[in-house]
Amino acid sequence: MQLLDGKLVSEKIKQDIAREAEAFLRANGRKPHLVAILVGHDGGSETYVASKMRNCQQVGFDSTNIHYEDDITQEALINKIKELNQDETVDGLIVQLPLPKHINPEEITEAIDYRKDVDGFHPVNLGRMQRNLPCFIPATPYGIMLMLDYYKINTAGMNAVVVGRSNIVGSPMSILLARNAQPGNCTVTLTHSKTKNLKEEVLRADLIIAAIGRKNFITADMVKEGAVIIDVGINREISTLTKSGYKLFGDVDFDSVASKSSFITPVPGGVGLMTIVGLLKNTLAAAKKEIYS
Ligand code: NDP
Repeated sequence: MQLLDGKLVSEKIKQDIAREAEAFLRANGRKPHLVAILVGHDGGSETYVASKMRNCQQVGFDSTNIHYEDDITQEALINKIKELNQDETVDGLIVQLPLPKHINPEEITEAIDYRKDVDGFHPVNLGRMQRNLPCFIPATPYGIMLMLDYYKINTAGMNAVVVGRSNIVGSPMSILLARNAQPGNCTVTLTHSKTKNLKEEVLRADLIIAAIGRKNFITADMVKEGAVIIDVGINREISTLTKSGYKLFGDVDFDSVASKSSFITPVPGGVGLMTIVGLLKNTLAAAKKEIYS
């Protein structure tokens, strides 16, 4: 078993990004700039946005966090997005999900200029991804692809089973793995809560992507010997044993599954760190106008 070390890989890629950000600053007289809008006080969301801002600073980007109370109207939020769409000093614009119930996430996603949509959730970017055209790829699947690439895992011909079909992880992951590319060229099965005989489906997998949101959901009896395992899950539990007051668990029962796997990501220290890298790479590409001019 080999650990897919998100800390090691993310630090290496962030060094490259920092070098490119420096060159961008020299050429343009300003830094790449990411703006994140956060609505309300969800504990997880506040932590993720703070981490995104911190990572921007680490690699030499400007970052702005616009924080609204959860009673902001959808109209006011869309007006702010429109203003930021027009602002030439803003390269990347993200709205942290989930949003309060009175705000429609689809309408917010579509309000963002697809050329600044560094989360890769806009239908234009999703459509272009499906057709293997240059686009912003959603940060978590992008980070996973970078991880598979770094460890030179040849995925061609693998049976890949993705568990979870969300718009931000499972669904785009299934598209990327099926594309004619490396990593890619997998035979993909996309599973969800209505899948029959999930255990049998997962047992056939050479590559498992677990994106469910349930602690230790994938257990050793569901895993084929030698499978590659990517654990996307972040399940927070209150703990008196950690400084932060909570402990993170993946969707994979690491202790029982690790010895059966060929490669496996830990939680924490795996996909979460790569997600940040995906976002930073998209923001740099947006600033450099590499995808859309
Ligand atoms: P969602 O809740 O949006 O989607 C969960 C998916 O899991 C759904 O498709 C659901 O099926 C499926 N599912 C739920 N229960 C079962 C079951 N019993 N059997 C099979 N499938 C099931 O979650 P996300 O995709 O947003 O996130 C998944 C996990 O990844 C969470 O823990 C989240 O915190 C984490 N995450 C981690 C990131 C990182 O950077 N590491 C980034 C984003 C998310 P159905 O569609 O039928 O309801």
